[in-house]
Amino acid sequence: MNIVITGGAGFVGSHLAEALLAAGHSVVVLDNLLTGRRVNIAHLEQRPRFEYRFHDVCDPLPDLPCDALFHMASPASPEGYGRHPIETMLTNSQGTLHALQLAQRHNARFLVTSTSEVYGDPKEHPQSETYWGNVNPVGPRSCYDEGKRYAEALTYNYSQVHRLDARIVRIFNTYGPRNSPEDGRVVPNFITQALRGQPLTVYGDGRQTRSFCYVADLVEGLQRALFTAGTQGEVINLGNPAEFTVLELANLVVRVTGSRSEVRQVAARPEEIAQRRPDISKAKRLLGWEPAIALDDGLARTAAWLGEELGLKASAAER
Ligand code: NAD
Ligand code: UDP
Repeated sequence: MNIVITGGAGFVGSHLAEALLAAGHSVVVLDNLLTGRRVNIAHLEQRPRFEYRFHDVCDPLPDLPCDALFHMASPASPEGYGRHPIETMLTNSQGTLHALQLAQRHNARFLVTSTSEVYGDPKEHPQSETYWGNVNPVGPRSCYDEGKRYAEALTYNYSQVHRLDARIVRIFNTYGPRNSPEDGRVVPNFITQALRGQPLTVYGDGRQTRSFCYVADLVEGLQRALFTAGTQGEVINLGNPAEFTVLELANLVVRVTGSRSEVRQVAARPEEIAQRRPDISKAKRLLGWEPAIALDDGLARTAAWLGEELGLKASAAER
């Protein structure tokens, strides 16, 4: 298949591109490197069935051969969208329209990567796809939450009106190699701090919870969501249902990296999300999918990558 990935130079998209190439597909990545890095796909650029094009999806997409399209372009970390709120909204609105138009022109399968953030600060726990969410439209997360809610609504209505073979995947916190230490998400932050022997900065009291999915598990789920028959029009949560407090995560990172860092509580984030855990029974039923990699294992793999990236491998092992 000819597959287009918008945002494919990012953390998740680069792993997906790798997996699709390995499965024998041709892949074109469109990315403007707003939060992604060319180095994420550098190892793919010499492959004959891979192409990278610098492109902002807020401009109409080039008319590429396209049997399937993964629309993943969007800043994803609170720091990333906090730095680029308007770009985030435009990417998820105009960018999603342009991605849908390309898919429609080629009668291609379409998958948009939405987020657990559409549930906001959830009143229902765990979160299943039927929950409508609790979102502040004018808060620090609104550019992302409302941008993704718009992207979902546009995809839903486009698929209704044009009979597009589209599905919506709501991704829960995912981590792994290529999660850049600069992007501010909790796992790369904590591992980087642990490897450097710095205090791990827990925002607030650390009792807020998240459920962390290793990137290889997510990439398997994304492929199944696109390729499995009977997923047209579906909304599917993908994430790891094992739930941890942020404080538990910090202590686990210290243990896995063998660090001597202290765990320090610092100022809470405004409008913190108190708890988050996916109900993945739909993904299990429709896709036969569930995550296989436990948090301590995934953290060790991520720490090995970050250690190389930061040139800290040896010192981490010695601490
Ligand atoms: P990322 O920031 O590493 O990747 C996003 C990519 O989109 C980057 O390469 C960025 O340069 C690109 N991009 C942004 N705006 C663009 C534009 N206008 N035109 C072209 N490219 C643009 O983030 P990620 O973690 O890889 O996330 C990928 C997708 O998955 C995003 O849609 C995100 O919302 C979704 N998601 C991720 C997580 C997670 O935990 N990683 C959780 C929920 C949802
Ligand atoms: N967090 C933290 N210290 C950090 C980074 C994040 O305590 O250095 C917390 C953050 O307040 C949130 C959780 O970790 O409760 C996950 O944050 P992240 O930015 O990774 O993603 P979110 O789920 O909030 O979008």
